[in-house]
Amino acid sequence: MRTCVVVVGKMNILPEKSLWIFVLQLSCVLLTLKATVTVGSPVLLNPPPPPETSAENFLEKYGYLEEENHQHNDTEVNTALREFQWLTHLPVTGRLDSATRHQMAAPRCGVRDDRGQQAWAQKVNGIFHGGLTKPNSGQRLRRKRHSQLGERWHKRHLTYQVVNWPGHLPRGQVALAVRTAFQLWSNASALAFREVTQGSADIRLAFYEGEHNDGMGNAFDGPGGALAHAFFPCRGEAHFDMAERWTLNGYKGHNLFMVIAHEVGHTLGLEHSPVRHALMSPYYKKLGKATVLSWDDITAVQQLYGKPESGQVIQLPGQVFSSALRDWELSESGTWKPDSTPPPYCRGFFDALTMDQDGTSLVFRGGLFWTVSPAGNTSSPLPLQNRWPGLPLAIEAAAYSEMDNKFYFFKGRRVWRYSSSGVDPGFPLRSSELGLPGHPDQAFYYPRLGHLVVFKGQLYFVLNLGTLRPEPYYPRSLDDWRGVPRGTNGAVSHPDGQVYFFKERHYWRFDPEKVQVTGEGMWDTELEWTGCLGTHHRGNNIL
Ligand SMILES: [Zn+2]
Ligand SMILES: [Zn+2]
Repeated sequence: MRTCVVVVGKMNILPEKSLWIFVLQLSCVLLTLKATVTVGSPVLLNPPPPPETSAENFLEKYGYLEEENHQHNDTEVNTALREFQWLTHLPVTGRLDSATRHQMAAPRCGVRDDRGQQAWAQKVNGIFHGGLTKPNSGQRLRRKRHSQLGERWHKRHLTYQVVNWPGHLPRGQVALAVRTAFQLWSNASALAFREVTQGSADIRLAFYEGEHNDGMGNAFDGPGGALAHAFFPCRGEAHFDMAERWTLNGYKGHNLFMVIAHEVGHTLGLEHSPVRHALMSPYYKKLGKATVLSWDDITAVQQLYGKPESGQVIQLPGQVFSSALRDWELSESGTWKPDSTPPPYCRGFFDALTMDQDGTSLVFRGGLFWTVSPAGNTSSPLPLQNRWPGLPLAIEAAAYSEMDNKFYFFKGRRVWRYSSSGVDPGFPLRSSELGLPGHPDQAFYYPRLGHLVVFKGQLYFVLNLGTLRPEPYYPRSLDDWRGVPRGTNGAVSHPDGQVYFFKERHYWRFDPEKVQVTGEGMWDTELEWTGCLGTHHRGNNIL
C-alpha cells in the first residue's frame, strides 16, 4: 500500500501518460482520497499534542504539580488540569481533552504560572476585602518552595543591556524593539530606563540555545514550545531561545518585540496574568493594532512602582511600533548601495522570493523589494507600492507564473494577482475561495504541472491558474517532495529546470526528473543569482 501511495505522489508532481501508470493511478484513487482526507485534517496543521506523560511533565514544569514528587494521584492531576484550564480560558473539565493538549503544545513563556495565580488571588482578595492580603495558608503550604510575591526593584531608575544578538535579524531592528519594549513600561509607571552598552546593568537580555547554565528545567527546546524566560527582581535577566524563528515585521515566526516586552515585565516583578488580552498572559501573542499593554498590565506595574510622574499613562498601539520599524527599514535600506556590502536580505531574512520570465530574481522584505539579474547584480531596494500599487507590506509568499505572465502574492487569508498594468479586477480574493490555506509558507509556479504550488505546514496545495480552482486529490503531504524540509520560506523554478527551496540561509535543489533533492547548501555563498555571492567576491578582490 505504501508503494502505491508513493507512485501516485510522483505522478501528481510528474504527470506521465503511460497506460499502465494510468491504470495504477485509477486503482489508487480511492486510497489517495482516503489519505488526502487524513492528511488534510486541519488538526494536523497544529503541533502534535503531547502524550499523557508529557502532559504531566508540562504541569510540573509550569508549577501546577509538585516537581519533587513524580507520583501524582488522580485528584492532584485533576486539580492541576483545572487550574491550567482556568488560566487559559478553556472549559474547566479537569480532563486532558484535546483542547487542553493543544493549548499545552502552543508557544509560550517559560516562566511558571503558579506565582501568577497567587498574585491574582491576592488582587481579587484586595478588591473584595480591601488592601492586599496574603494567600491562604493552604496555598502557602503547597507553594512554600517559591519565593515571596511582590519582589521589586527598590529604585526607579534602571539600566539595561543587550548581551548578545539573535541571528537573522538586523541589529538595528532588535535595538529598536528593545528600546520600545522598555518604553512601554516606563510610559505606564514611574520607572525610567537607560541603555548601557558596557559595564554592569540592572537588566540583561541574552539569547541562548538549549541548556545554558540555569538548570535543565530552563533548557531551551528549539523552535516553538518555551520561547523565552526571565527572572524576578533583583536578578534582572531575561533569556531568549536563540533557535527560535524570530521576526519583527512579518507573520512567519514569533514576534520578538512582544516577547521582549513580556519578559521585561517579569524582570520588573510582574507575574503571569489570567486576563486574556494582557501582555503578561503566559501564551504568545501576535503584535496587533491594539494597545500592547492591557489594563491589567498597567495596574500590575503601578502597584509595584506607582504612576508616571506626569500622572498620564501613554499607551502604545501595536501599529506605532510597526510603522517605526518600517521607517527604520527605509532609512537603513536608503543608505545601502549596490557594490558595497551584501544587501540586507543576504543574512537569511526575507519574506518571499520568486523569479520572472527573464531569470531575474525578486526578493521581498517588509515594504521593499530587490531585483537580482541572472549574473547576480542587485538593484537598490524599491518600495513595493511603486511596482504593485495596493499591495500590503510584509507579504508571506510571492510567485511569478510564466503561464499567464502574472505575479501572485499571498498575505494572511488573501491572494493578489497583478498583470503588468496593475492589480487584476476582482482581486484580492480570499484564499478559501481558491481552496488555499491562509498564511502560506511559500508559493511557486511549477512548469511540470503548469500550476501554482502552495506549501503550508506539512501539506502542499495545487492551484489551477486557468480555472482558479484547486486541483483534485490535493492537498497532499510534503513527503512527495523527497528531501525538502518543512517550513521553507520561498522557492524558485529556475531556468536550469531545477526547483530551489529556501529556508533561512540554506537551500535545497529539487530535481523534478528524479523527484528528489539532489543538492543543498548555503544560498548566500553558493547561488550567484541571489545577489549575495558577487559582493563577497568583490570584497575578496579588494583584500
Ligand atoms: Zn512569562
Ligand atoms: Zn535561562
